[in-house]
Amino acid sequence: PPPAPLLEVRADFPVFAHRPELVFLDSAASSQKPAAVIDAIAGFYAHDYANIHRGAYGLSARATDRFEAVRDQAAQFFGAPSRDGVVFTRNATEAINLVAHSWGQVHLNPGDVVLVSELEHHANLVPWHLVTGGRGARVEAVAMTPDGRLDLEDYERKLRELPVKFVALQHVSNALGTVHPARQLVELAHARGVSILLDGAQAAPHLPLNLTELGADFYVLSAHKMLGPSGVGLLLARPEALRGLPPYQGGGDMIREVYPQHSTYAPLPHTFEAGTPAIAEVIGFGAALDYLSGLGMANVAAHEQALLGYALQRLGAVDGLQLYGPASGRCGVVSFNVAGAHAHDVAGFLDEANICVRAGHHCAQPLMRALGVASTARASFSVYTTPADVDALADALGEIAQFFAETP
Ligand code: PMP
Repeated sequence: PPPAPLLEVRADFPVFAHRPELVFLDSAASSQKPAAVIDAIAGFYAHDYANIHRGAYGLSARATDRFEAVRDQAAQFFGAPSRDGVVFTRNATEAINLVAHSWGQVHLNPGDVVLVSELEHHANLVPWHLVTGGRGARVEAVAMTPDGRLDLEDYERKLRELPVKFVALQHVSNALGTVHPARQLVELAHARGVSILLDGAQAAPHLPLNLTELGADFYVLSAHKMLGPSGVGLLLARPEALRGLPPYQGGGDMIREVYPQHSTYAPLPHTFEAGTPAIAEVIGFGAALDYLSGLGMANVAAHEQALLGYALQRLGAVDGLQLYGPASGRCGVVSFNVAGAHAHDVAGFLDEANICVRAGHHCAQPLMRALGVASTARASFSVYTTPADVDALADALGEIAQFFAETP
């Protein structure tokens, strides 16, 4: 078993009491939820629910205060420079679309390049295809090294040689777990006067973050991957990077004055929050941040590193198993293939043993092409993952690999 200290929090997650047989290794897709989050949402609906930002009555004012308190809490949790740059969205995808649309509309001109990478999740590719396509600009990609890191020389070269106007890169790879040198990525972009967005969907659940120190202009994440509910994402921006940009969507809550022919907009961050938000889910996200604060993100990271080391050791000893990703500098994600088997079949066999893994291209088709495979199976960890989960996976994969080795 891996070295201590490991977190012992499984009892906080009701799903494991209801399904004791479950070996849940798909936390990168979406995490399970602690009782604290589930109870916070139910409690909010039972005691404090009303629409926010418009009630003249006490209940609505209270709901508004609770909602806005989560904005402050998020700013503090992620070390954001100011609450004015904390925008609630539906998910990381919507946060990226917001930046692509609002920033792209003002700043992208014909010939400009938006620089992404071969490792990106489709959520950090397609929005840039949409906005560049309409403006005569284009998307170029930084290459991936064979072991699944960003090719930093290629990044520097492309920044130097192409007319790059904007950089949009992931912080951590969802398919391989690679942790990219975020600070260096930001500094290299800023040294050339280029704004940068970091996709932190897979970083925020696993690493302590201080966005003020990191200095990215835009940082995005999803609550559902970090013990919070679905339906909530965050755009964490330097307020100066948002100021003056046109709204992403129009409607209630984001206006100052509206006339039949034109309107003016509410100040930051409300400019970018049109319509009734996911109020109860934001409250639930606040409970998730409280829960993670209680554990301490450094402990979360240490727990997952210990499990990752153990998983690489155990899976590395399985004959016929191909592992992907770098030897070091990665989060609790292990991507693999069994020789002679399709990843979907492997996931199907694992499911028969109640082991949940994801199989496919992981919304990262360019990465799969660069790796030279159609798909992989992926096991991913969270705070509630145990060494016993890793043992169950390794034992089952040993049997599956043997089966495929013996099947002509
Ligand atoms: N980026 C990365 C790296 C991801 O892993 C994901 C989720 N798989 C996303 C973006 C999109 O997150 P969401 O679906 O919550 O918008």
